[in-house]
Amino acid sequence: MAETVDTSGGTALLDGPGAGPMVRVEDLHRSYGTGAAAVHALRGVSFEVPRGELVALKGRSGSGKTTLLNLVGGLDAADRGRITVDGVELGSLAENGLLELRRDRIGFVFQSFGLIPVLSAAENVGVPLRLRRTPAREREERVRLLLSLVGLADQADQRPGELSGGQQQRVAIARALANRPALLIADEPTGQLDAETGLAVMELLRAVVRTESVTALVATHDPQLLGLADRVLELNDGDLVTH
Ligand code: ADP
Ligand code: MG
Repeated sequence: MAETVDTSGGTALLDGPGAGPMVRVEDLHRSYGTGAAAVHALRGVSFEVPRGELVALKGRSGSGKTTLLNLVGGLDAADRGRITVDGVELGSLAENGLLELRRDRIGFVFQSFGLIPVLSAAENVGVPLRLRRTPAREREERVRLLLSLVGLADQADQRPGELSGGQQQRVAIARALANRPALLIADEPTGQLDAETGLAVMELLRAVVRTESVTALVATHDPQLLGLADRVLELNDGDLVTH
């Protein structure tokens, strides 16, 4: 039941948004470098992320977690294999289509927060809405809602440098949710936080997946956070470990 959609230059095969798993990855390969010096970061990885779930991706440093998240998020291209996000096959999209997918359907959260230092918390959360030219009043309303969702209603006017690490990551989560993404991708979101703050941030992600009809794929090697996931995938040297 494939159908064609206009994706600004490319065509995409759709399961249809709302149908099938949120993410489907099939036989994914990605190497860096060539010949004897090649690093095989992913060696034929396949899995699915069901809609509405929080899926954790574990594995020691260097096992391929970031490589995999970047591919699923359309930030990098695979050597081989297929990725479908919300029914859209990434390989079928032209650069514009990928850009729109990242902007409209995926929210990213990084270990280092990635906030703009000269903007207030509210302005940071509003950036994705500005990029989509959301009218000012609607934008301000949504920013207020998002900041209270992450427990920072009172910090709206503070800049990142005036916030704790945990608060900065909450702002980053609010920003990632601004455009109502279907999929949240978080790469070691608690990696720079102490254990207690990290747990609180993971609990926030857990809550958001329950209440905001979003699906999340979260890389972490913190064992105490894995218990909050609906399922855990483990990478070992570029291969998915089956449990
Ligand atoms: P993780 O996020 O689990 O720590 P990565 O995906 O960052 O793992 O890395 C997987 C492997 O690929 C590692 O051996 C790493 O050194 C290598 N790698 C990652 N990015 C690059 C790159 N841009 N160039 C060369 N090697 C890379
Ligand atoms: Mg990494």
